[in-house]
Amino acid sequence: MLELEILGSNATAPTREGPASCYLLHTRTGVVLVDAGPGSLLAYCSRYGLDRLRGIVVTHLHADHSLDLMAWAYRWTFPEVLPRVPLFVPAGETDRLAAFDAVFGIPTLAAMNRPIAQSFEVVEMPRDGWTVHEVDGAAFRSFAAHHSVPSAALRFEGPDGRTVAFSSDTGDCEPVAEAAREADLFVCEATYLEADEQALHGHGHLTARMAGALAARARARRLVLTHFADPADRDRGREHAGESFGGPVAVAVPGTVFTP
Ligand SMILES: [Zn+2]
Repeated sequence: MLELEILGSNATAPTREGPASCYLLHTRTGVVLVDAGPGSLLAYCSRYGLDRLRGIVVTHLHADHSLDLMAWAYRWTFPEVLPRVPLFVPAGETDRLAAFDAVFGIPTLAAMNRPIAQSFEVVEMPRDGWTVHEVDGAAFRSFAAHHSVPSAALRFEGPDGRTVAFSSDTGDCEPVAEAAREADLFVCEATYLEADEQALHGHGHLTARMAGALAARARARRLVLTHFADPADRDRGREHAGESFGGPVAVAVPGTVFTP
C-alpha cells in the first residue's frame, strides 16, 4: 500500500504551516521522499528517523523542489556517514547537481567534498514514460512535463496495483495526462487561480481549473491539488477544479495522509 503523506505544498518558500514542495510515500519498509523543497529535512525529522528513508525522487531542480538536497547531503555525511540511498533526478540534470556540490562541497572534510554525490546513488530518469525504476517495492515511471527546466511527472505503482501520480510543475500537456491515467491519486499542481499566457504555456504552470480539466481528461479517480502560490487560495482552487473534475478533490495540507 502506497500511502501519501503531505509534508509541504507551498510553491517557492516554506511558511509557518510547512515546507515548500515535499511529500512522503510510505512504502514496504520505510518512506520515499518526493521532492526536497526548503524545510523538508526539518519536517521529516520531526516525524521520522533518518533510518526509514529509502530514497529521494526529485521532480525538477528548481529550488522550491530541491534546495534542501544540500541539507540532506550534509546530514547524510556529518557527523557520521549514513548508508547511501538512491536519488532520482530528471535525465540531463546531473551537471546541475555537480554545480550544487561544487558550491557547497567542503574539500577539507573527506566525506563532504562532494556532499550530494557522496550521500546518494544518483539515478537519471529518462522521462520517456516507460522506463521503470524501483524503490522499496514501489515501481515508478517518469514523464516529460512542460516546464522551464527538465521536469518529471511521476507515476508510482504499489505492490497491490494502486497508483499515485504527481504532475510536478507543468503546463497542460499530454505526457502528464498519461502519467495520471486512471490514477487512484493524482497530486497535481494548481499554482494559480488565474495567470497569463507566459506563466501557463511559456514557463509552464496550471491554474486550479486547468488541473481539474487535466484530471478529468486523465480519468484520475481522486485529485489532490498542491503547489499553491498563495495557500489562502486553496478552497477556491478546490471549487475551480471541481467545475470540470467530477471525482473527489482535496487540497494538500501538511500532515494530511491519503490512502490510494
Ligand atoms: Zn515549484
